[in-house]
Formats: sequence, structure tokens, C-alpha cells
Amino acid sequence: GFHWKVGTLKCGRLREMETEVGVGANTLLDLHGVDQDLVEKIAFDALVWSSLHGLLVGDKTAQRSGKVPGVGMVHAPFSLLPMSFPENQFNMACEVAPIFNELVDRVSLDGKFLQDSLSRTKKVDVFTARLLDIHSKMLEINKKEDIRLGLHRSDYMLDEQTKLLLQIELNTISSSFPGLSSLVTELHRNLLIHYGDQLGLDSKKIPGNTAVKQFAEVLAKAWTEYNNPRAVVLVVAQPEERNMYDQHWLSSVLKERHNVTTIRKTLAEIDTEGELLPDGTLLVSGQAVAVVYFRAGYTPIDYPSESEWRARLLMEQSSAVKCPSISYHLAGTKKIQQELAKPNVLERFLDNKEDIAKVRKCFAGLWSLDDSEIVSHAIEKPKLYVMKPQREGGGNNIYGEDVRETLLRLRKEGFEENAAYILMQMIFPSVSPTFLMRDGICHKDHAISELGIYGAYLRNKEKVIMNEQCGYLMRTKVSSSNEGGVAAGFAVLDSIYLT
Ligand code: ADP
Ligand code: MG
Ligand code: MG
Repeated sequence: GFHWKVGTLKCGRLREMETEVGVGANTLLDLHGVDQDLVEKIAFDALVWSSLHGLLVGDKTAQRSGKVPGVGMVHAPFSLLPMSFPENQFNMACEVAPIFNELVDRVSLDGKFLQDSLSRTKKVDVFTARLLDIHSKMLEINKKEDIRLGLHRSDYMLDEQTKLLLQIELNTISSSFPGLSSLVTELHRNLLIHYGDQLGLDSKKIPGNTAVKQFAEVLAKAWTEYNNPRAVVLVVAQPEERNMYDQHWLSSVLKERHNVTTIRKTLAEIDTEGELLPDGTLLVSGQAVAVVYFRAGYTPIDYPSESEWRARLLMEQSSAVKCPSISYHLAGTKKIQQELAKPNVLERFLDNKEDIAKVRKCFAGLWSLDDSEIVSHAIEKPKLYVMKPQREGGGNNIYGEDVRETLLRLRKEGFEENAAYILMQMIFPSVSPTFLMRDGICHKDHAISELGIYGAYLRNKEKVIMNEQCGYLMRTKVSSSNEGGVAAGFAVLDSIYLT
């Protein structure tokens, strides 16, 4: 693929691009018709809007930008215009969100299923083993979580050839961008209100995005269920977080709309400042905690010492509502995703046949590495597969030639390590030319998109208080890059234009 930059705010060379960029089925704009001056005007307005409305991240070139709010800010990377997406597929993804919420809850209650499914992974993956140890401890003391809160994001790609909307993964911990995705939607609507006539686009075709509002609402509801008016919501954050404004958006809406206070602490701080009262109350720096909201703790990097693991265990043992609990966290692992895709497994957790069929339709091909036929095929045709370890946060998967090499190595070295990975069918979404904005510069490139649908689930014992789809996240990335991390620098935030 090619990637080209032009000077600040110059989306130049459109003419030359015309011959190179095929206008795919998914292309929103006929780029032949887009006037370069117009693109520059829109880009300028978009950058101003982002700065004024908090569509921001820490600038990695500014030293304190990950620690101190208000220092070294830059607009979050975004696409200049929304990506077109079929309305029926979007509706389908929204429709299954509450079913996935329920599925996670049901799976989380089956401690044996979680332990058994991950038992071999445990032997070869230290991180998963530590999570499972905490889970075992909770099983031993028969810990019951009456109030269960899930803030999930189910991610999909639309496979071009089959037209199937296939699930990439289901995130049950630290589902990011509820704040910034809501803003990108607003930005795009705003741009189309002003430039829609000239572009031939209608701002009303961009569905509303209430992710931040609904996430804050369900956090507030969980806080209410906990029923201690003096308690706070604890945001567990990484010591350095350039995506802090996405998180501050949630805290801000919680405060302003619901009058709920949040405190931010790292795992290390929670270890020093946290204590457990005999009745199970979690105190952090003397304040009772109603809800623990994790925006850290999903990667081994977050646990550099025993101190962080002690903090995780302390919180798990407490009566605070955990988002997620250790069992919700484990239910979102790739291994469990693969186990759920096996025949007759969904049936163990869901009762409604239509729900089961809808969920199953989203499943791509998923296999354990014990399936020697698939492994042979993947060695033969590695580009058709992606290999995934039990990790979160992007940048961990294995693609292409590396799939072949890794599988051949594992074949030689014995089968123990097999259980660290799953194999997944590679999904190929359609490629469209897109304007990507990063660091105040507009790039044009071939791009593919991944749609995330947020879901919120809250129950107290038998009473389901909330089970809803809540807004969406579109991420668009240069098609030549395998991974789609916005923070990692490959992708931009986007919204959708229904077709
Ligand atoms: P993580 O939990 O680290 O985000 P993912 O399973 O979401 O792990 O994989 C990271 C990225 O890799 C995705 O955002 C997507 O861009 C790409 N990816 C993952 N699985 C597939 C797949 N089956 N087909 C195509 N791309 C994939
Ligand atoms: Mg993930
Ligand atoms: Mg992902």
C-alpha cells in the first residue's frame, strides 16, 4: 500500500490519486468530485471544532501529557467524514448487543466453565494464570456479586465477500472511547450540517451516539444500587494515560448529570491507600467506593510488581461493584470467545433459540490450535488466518508469514504452548479511500473500518436494571496495517453514514 503526507492542512495530489484509488462499493464520496479547497475548509473547521469541544488526547511529544490534564493536548485522530455503512447491518449489531450482555452475565456465573476452558491456557500464560488465581479465590470463599455491571464493546468487521457482519471480539474490560466516539459523531453531524449540500450528504444519516451519556447513566445507577450516598466511583487508571480525556468525559458527565463523584487511582496507589473494612466496604484514601471502573488492569504491563496484583485482589474481595468483576473479565478472553463458538455451547447459556441464532451468525471461524486440520491449512494459507494470544489493547496478534512460522515452531516444540493462542478466520472488509486527520494533517489513504457497539448491563440479584445497546464506535485504519489501535497510531476515530 501507499501512504502519503502533504503539508499542514493540504489534502493535495487528489488528481494523481484518482487513477490509483478505485472507488469501492463502500465509498461515501465520489472523490473525483471533491474540490480540494472544500476539503481544506472542512479540515480546518474540524480541527477548530475538536479543540473547542474536547475531542482530545495527550500529545506524545509533550512530556507531561499523559499525567497532567490540560497539558500538551492534541486533537484525537479522526476521519474527516463519516464512513458509509449499511443500515440493516448496523441495526443487526445493535440488536445483538443486549443478547451479548446477557451472555457475558450467564457465562460469568459458571465458574467451572471459565476455569475448565482456561485450564490449559493457565499453564502457559502467566497473566491469564494470575487472573484465574483471583477467580479461584473468589470461588473458594463463595463470593457472590449481587450487583453486576458490564460496560462492553462488541467489535465487528463487515466481510466484503460474504456480506456478513462478523465479530472480531467482545471487550468486557476497559472498553475505550465512549467519550470521544460520541464527540466524533457530533463533529461529523456538525460538518454535514454546514457542508452537506456541497458534498451531497445528509447529516441525519449519521445515527446519534449516546455512548458517554448511557455509560455515565448506568454507572450512576450502579452507584445508586450500592446505596451509600457518601461513596464514590473509583476510576482505575494507568500511571500515564494519553487517552485520559475520553475517561474524563465519563467522570464529568457523572458529576454534572448525576452528582456522583469519581476519584482516579492507579493500581499501585490503590495498594497503598486501599483497605477493606470487616463488612466488605472498600476504602481508598479513606473514601468508601461504590463502583470500581477499570480503565487499567487489562494488560500484564499494568502489573509491574506484586503491589498491583494485591490491589486487584483487594478490590475483588470487596463489596464494591466491579466493572468488570474478575469473572466478567475472564468471560471476555479470546479463549472463551473461541469456546463459545463451538457447537452446542451457546445453548448452555442462552435459552431463546432466536437469540442463539442471531449471536451465532456473528461468529467468524474460531479454532483452538488442537485442531490439526485447521493448523495445517493455516500453515499452507497463513493470510487467511489471524493468531491471537490472551491479550487486550491491540498489537498482540500474529499475521501472515508469522502465523506460518509460529505454527511450525509450536508443532516442533510440543503442544503445551498451543493453549496460549486461538486461530481466527481473517476478515476482509471493503477498502475505501478516506481522509484521515492526525496532528493537524490531512492524509488520504485506502482504509478499512471496524464497528464497535457499546452495551451496558446492570442487575441486582434477580432484577435486571439495564440491558441496552448504547452508542457505537467506528474505527478506520489504513488498510495496509494489520492492527487497528487508535492510541497505537494506526487508526482514527470515525462515525457512520447509513446507506
Ligand atoms: P485486542 O483485544 O487487542 O483489541 P482484537 O481481537 O480486537 O484484539 O485484534 C486487534 C485488531 O486486529 C482488531 O482491531 C482488528 O483490526 C485486527 N483483527 C483482529 N481479528 C481480526 C480478524 N479476524 N480479521 C481481520 N482483522 C482482525
Ligand atoms: Mg480487546
Ligand atoms: Mg480489539
